[in-house]
Amino acid sequence: MRFGFDIDDTLISLREHAFHLYNKKLHKDVHVDHFHALKTVEIHEPFGLDGEEGKNMWNSLSEEIYFTDCPPYPSAVEFLQKLTANGHEVYYITARNKVFAERTKEWMKAQGFPVKDDHFFCGMADHEKIDVIQNLGLDYYMDDKPAVLDTLAETGVQLLVKDQSYNKNLSYDRVYSWADVWEYLKLAEGK
Ligand SMILES: [Mg+2]
Repeated sequence: MRFGFDIDDTLISLREHAFHLYNKKLHKDVHVDHFHALKTVEIHEPFGLDGEEGKNMWNSLSEEIYFTDCPPYPSAVEFLQKLTANGHEVYYITARNKVFAERTKEWMKAQGFPVKDDHFFCGMADHEKIDVIQNLGLDYYMDDKPAVLDTLAETGVQLLVKDQSYNKNLSYDRVYSWADVWEYLKLAEGK
């Protein structure tokens, strides 16, 4: 089967990683509880930044946010490796800016994710993901963002939402831990 994955905050804990970097850069000590209570994808609010300042902060730190030691979620690498080891196709579809495409691909490989060069799509706007996903004929697609998942709801692709504080209201099947997804989807070994 064909599995598609968003990367940021689906497979890797990017926003929390960025939250710690904001604290460091701003010489603040905002408690991580504020992060876990966020109702928005954006993380600037607990730092007293407005939308514009938040955007500037993210952009000024993007190299450090994307290419240092952001941790994958537990069992994410192992789950994707198990998929490919059992003959499934794994695709990555990320809205990160195209200028980061090549380095993001290499960074993902370095973390141990199974990445085929032609299975990696980067640089589309959130609403353009739907075209990529439909053209690939995916069986499953997993993402964290409400707006992205909602555009895909009518497509017939089976959707799973990675559980986050800002997507609790979505009714799609929910990934709490990547360790459980193999069993949850009733996937068989040795295909
Ligand atoms: Mg995401």
